[in-house]
Amino acid sequence: MMTLDQLNNASAAGFVKGLDGTYEHSPWIAERAAASRPFATLAALKVALARVVREATVDEQLGLIRAHPELAGKAAVAGALTAESTNEQQKAGLTACTPQEFEKLQRLNADYNARFGWPFILAVRGPRGTGFTRAEIIATFERRLRAHPDLERAECLRQIHRIAEIRLNDKFGVKPALGEQLWDWAAELARHSDTEDFLTCTYATPAHTAVAQQLMAWMRDCGFDEVSRDAVGNVVGVYNGTTGKRLLTGSHFDTVRRAGRFDGRLGILAPMLVVRELHRQGRRLPFGLEVIGFSEEECQRFPADFLASSAVIGAFDAAWLDRTDTDGITLRDAMQAAGLPGTPAAIAALKRDPARYLGFVEVHIEQGPVLDSLDLPLGIVTSINGSRRYTGEVVGLASHAGTTPMGQRRDAAAGVAELILFAEQRAAAVPDVVATVGMLEVPSGSTNVIPGRCRFSLDLRATTDTARDALDADVRAKLADICERRGLSFTLQPTLAANAAPSDPTWQARWEAAVAALGLPLHRLPSGAGHDAMKIHELLPQAMLFVRGGNGGISHNPLESVTADDAQLAVEAFQQLIESLHV
Ligand SMILES: [Zn+2]
Repeated sequence: MMTLDQLNNASAAGFVKGLDGTYEHSPWIAERAAASRPFATLAALKVALARVVREATVDEQLGLIRAHPELAGKAAVAGALTAESTNEQQKAGLTACTPQEFEKLQRLNADYNARFGWPFILAVRGPRGTGFTRAEIIATFERRLRAHPDLERAECLRQIHRIAEIRLNDKFGVKPALGEQLWDWAAELARHSDTEDFLTCTYATPAHTAVAQQLMAWMRDCGFDEVSRDAVGNVVGVYNGTTGKRLLTGSHFDTVRRAGRFDGRLGILAPMLVVRELHRQGRRLPFGLEVIGFSEEECQRFPADFLASSAVIGAFDAAWLDRTDTDGITLRDAMQAAGLPGTPAAIAALKRDPARYLGFVEVHIEQGPVLDSLDLPLGIVTSINGSRRYTGEVVGLASHAGTTPMGQRRDAAAGVAELILFAEQRAAAVPDVVATVGMLEVPSGSTNVIPGRCRFSLDLRATTDTARDALDADVRAKLADICERRGLSFTLQPTLAANAAPSDPTWQARWEAAVAALGLPLHRLPSGAGHDAMKIHELLPQAMLFVRGGNGGISHNPLESVTADDAQLAVEAFQQLIESLHV
């Protein structure tokens, strides 16, 4: 087995030779990375190699992509692949295709080559490292055939880095055992779903209760001292320290409909593994670890935002208990059906005393493309965006599309279209500010009628409340201006206002130190999505760590993906964080 010391101390030529076969027929990558030695960790080496490729010219990147064989292509059949590629394609079962599958893959290879001009690249051993099925490979192939060429080239390069990562693990004899355990747990939890076809786990359903029970069982196995399910269904595990103070952590286990496996759950499972390792070593920290699996964050079944973390900070509104889901079941009844008390007194008792806690940290999948596009496994959150949401309606006059001259129209949809373009430009002009019209509708519109009404949603977010409010004021002023000029009227109904939750500087710095200790470069980014940490922020200092999502960072989607290696780094970062915490 190779060691990092050997590579760090080798001549430049020896370094390149040591990494032979990591990147297919492309020694220039190792040649350029050699100057960045010494590498503190294997993760640092992986990031440095990826960086060389990211900074290379497009022609060099295409050369790297084209150095790869087709999947189950002619070279594979002729036995003309490198040893590494043969091993990977064999493991993925690509050498044992049925005639139909083989024919399908040949056609996909031909179509893909015709569209992009390079071979389709997929790390066939997948995010877990044990391999995609042939059906998954074919489905991925078909999906990516429709991608934009620039995005597809970037995805091919990321797949190449994943291939290199697995090859390096093999070379170094390294196995991301904690990450694999996390991955397997996430897969196991995903078996509990409200629906059969996709993962959906909404509040207080039988699948949701099953997940809670599974988490509790695993927490006991991990060696937590106390494990319980509280009055709103949060799963709470405590690993005692030598003093009464505790670090609070966790994330949610409910999901959106057609969800991914890692959203929320990653942030429960990672600290569970940290506790398991402490327990195995018979170690106690000077502070306790309290891990909460929040029962509700996604606001899918009941209109009660963050009901679980609200209960923990004492902000659960008892009026929510009377709110109903789409079947008319009240929150109170749903809680009782799930074996939860659902009484205001029991819920009020969940409020934590901030004096007993050091702070709150949350690990979460990024749910965006930033880390994936930078080839970085971890990122440090600076702030959770504040937001304002509205539903709006612009009213004009529905009149004949043929007879009404352009200058005499009151077109509601054209007015909203102007607003959308303004919001897009206004948000793009400022860093870390975003504006989205996600819903747009011309009620009972028709081809030959000028839109008399247009309904829309508006979602505005920013890292600071000041930036959010400035964006909000500008967009609303523009709407008034557009309607005035076009002879339209409008209504704008606020549906949500949430303040930004900047990370606590001390806790953010602790995450930064933890990531740096793993040999990784620091990348700070805001969280565009809301998280439990946003609520806990009202009670305790908080900071979040983001983990790269694969497939361009897609989330709230079955394609959501985290590699076992990145999950491993997330657990290790958590371990670093608590090791360096002196209280
Ligand atoms: Zn989440």
